[in-house]
Amino acid sequence: ARAGETNKVLTTCAYCGVGCQMWLHVKDGRVVKVTGVENAVPNRGRLCVKGRFGYDFIHSPDRLTVPLIKENGTFREASWDEALDHVAGRFAQILRAHGPRSLAGLSSARVTNEENYLMQKLVRTGFKSNNIDHCARLCHASTVAGLAASFGSGAMTNSIAEMEDADAFIVIGSNTTEAHPVLSTFVKRAVIHNGAELVVIDPRRIPLVAHAAVWLRQRPGTDIAVINGLMHVIIRENLADEPFIAERCENYDALQKVVASYTPERVEALSGIPAEDLIRAARIYGRAGKAMILYAMGITQHSCGTDNVKSLGNLAMLTGNVGRLSTGVNPLRGQNNVQGACDMGALPNVFPGYQVVTDGGIRSKFEAFWKAPLDAEVGLALTEMLPAAAEGRIKGLFILGENPVVSDPDSHHVSDALKNLGFLVVQDIFLTETGRLADVVLPAACFAEKDGTFTNTERRVQRVRKAVEPPGQARADWRILTDLANRMGLGWRYDSPESIFEEIAALTPSYGGISYKRLERESLQWPCPSADHPGTLFLHKDRFTRGKGVFFPVEHQDPFELPDDAYPMILTTGRLLYQYHTRTMTGRCEGVNALAPLAEVELNPSDATRLQLVHGDRARLTTRRGSITVHVQVTERVKAGVVFMPFHYAEAAANILTVPALDPVAKIPEFKVCAVRVEKE
Ligand code: SF4
Repeated sequence: ARAGETNKVLTTCAYCGVGCQMWLHVKDGRVVKVTGVENAVPNRGRLCVKGRFGYDFIHSPDRLTVPLIKENGTFREASWDEALDHVAGRFAQILRAHGPRSLAGLSSARVTNEENYLMQKLVRTGFKSNNIDHCARLCHASTVAGLAASFGSGAMTNSIAEMEDADAFIVIGSNTTEAHPVLSTFVKRAVIHNGAELVVIDPRRIPLVAHAAVWLRQRPGTDIAVINGLMHVIIRENLADEPFIAERCENYDALQKVVASYTPERVEALSGIPAEDLIRAARIYGRAGKAMILYAMGITQHSCGTDNVKSLGNLAMLTGNVGRLSTGVNPLRGQNNVQGACDMGALPNVFPGYQVVTDGGIRSKFEAFWKAPLDAEVGLALTEMLPAAAEGRIKGLFILGENPVVSDPDSHHVSDALKNLGFLVVQDIFLTETGRLADVVLPAACFAEKDGTFTNTERRVQRVRKAVEPPGQARADWRILTDLANRMGLGWRYDSPESIFEEIAALTPSYGGISYKRLERESLQWPCPSADHPGTLFLHKDRFTRGKGVFFPVEHQDPFELPDDAYPMILTTGRLLYQYHTRTMTGRCEGVNALAPLAEVELNPSDATRLQLVHGDRARLTTRRGSITVHVQVTERVKAGVVFMPFHYAEAAANILTVPALDPVAKIPEFKVCAVRVEKE
């Protein structure tokens, strides 16, 4: 466009996993407005407040514009050549001195599929190990493990558009209205206009409760008991889909045995949910023709997260609510490209397309294509890398677009672990709390400044398009990774994101039929194995990906930490509509930030009275990990004995308090429950 003229660039929102299609309006090299794209999937023109107004960060004066090298504890500016030579040299030195397992990489749900692909390839071929992971470890690792075991695929089974035709929903552990705002409009439309019945299972009075036929307010950490209770009632009242179970599932006898003891009365004692409400909810879900389960981190972020997910798989199979339109088990992925980062193999146990690293045949395929020997051992997960850094086993770490100092549990230990590294490189768009600890900081382009693809929560691959130039010397992540790889002697020849995508499609069967040419005309949902395949609206039609679906009976397990005399309340954490993750972006969008500028803890009125706290007071929250001070919000949203805090705010970081107890399979931390003491400051 000429000076003073405005042009529009079609792209994908960079905030949450809904992946709304949006126009960036560009004038004189700056994004000046954002609007929805009428009739486009998945959002049909709708945008939430973050997508619509949260773009100031793109042109923020705080953006990183030049590489930084730390000398004597202070950053100085450096040229790209100097910075990349230094990074490549130090990684090579560590590799020579301490071997491949001493290096690790953290990729990012914030960057494109192409960039995630390159990052895991760099770690596998340049660092020579599978020590690659990303923040899905903190949000949906238990989904990938649980659903893959039950059904054979760890992704959302159905699609957003199908929600409008569902007869019933169970929304459990998802504050959909705030965390996936546009997606929640599809649920509300089904309920308000089409008469669908909604069951909300959540310890907080989230906005969707206003539309619910039944709200089950469980004690945090009792989801398995509640789901077993629902199944108990469904079986007792002959609402199970016996033909579906007989034809398509296995291990039903074992499930029946376990849920037999979860009577509504026992579940009431465990969870605090009145028995009659549990029965009403079971009847709604069990009698519906097409019922969808939606869930998010209220299910996954527990030390029993994988079992929570398997329980939901059990419930859907029990009623035949999977493998058909408007049914299924639907994890709502948090960040814009967390599905894509998983698909691209930014995980320690799988290559792109969930092809396992321990399979010799698969490894040979990648070795032949990448022309490099590959490690046969599963690498370290994010939640193992940081303790390994603290113990000195990991010496060098490359972090792409993540801020673990604020986002990971037990923040004090995270900082200590990072400080113990011999060499830390952080590549990001802002100097984050994590970046400040780095030896080298590399300035990256944001989503509006580069081309590529994101994959949204419903497995939909969509284009990201460059609208403006990056500030200063900042570069697209794929360019930085390519330059670094070449300095490490890897001989990469990528000249565009499209050339990277072609390699992804060649190596990843579920992406095999997707190309930039097709994506110009349409977005495509994987699996899309061939150029003439239309993509897949919902999974497990006729047969599960693994063949038969497996019932995994699971018992209620107490959270790792329960209230006691010293820490008598339960702390649970989550998100707010107006902020995003560690606020590196929304915190720099004036209008959006002004709507939720302060960290607040939600406290039930009865607890507030007992603690002599009133709205607006400051309270000290203390757990066995640390202590923070925050403003008090007195509200019925939380039940007595439970406090809620968003994790967004670095200055009052909830993750100083959270417990690093891990799910044994998925190694996801228990962000949703820990014991806390609240005192007047
Ligand atoms: Fe962006 Fe998610 Fe909002 Fe859509 S719902 S505009 S993807 S933040």
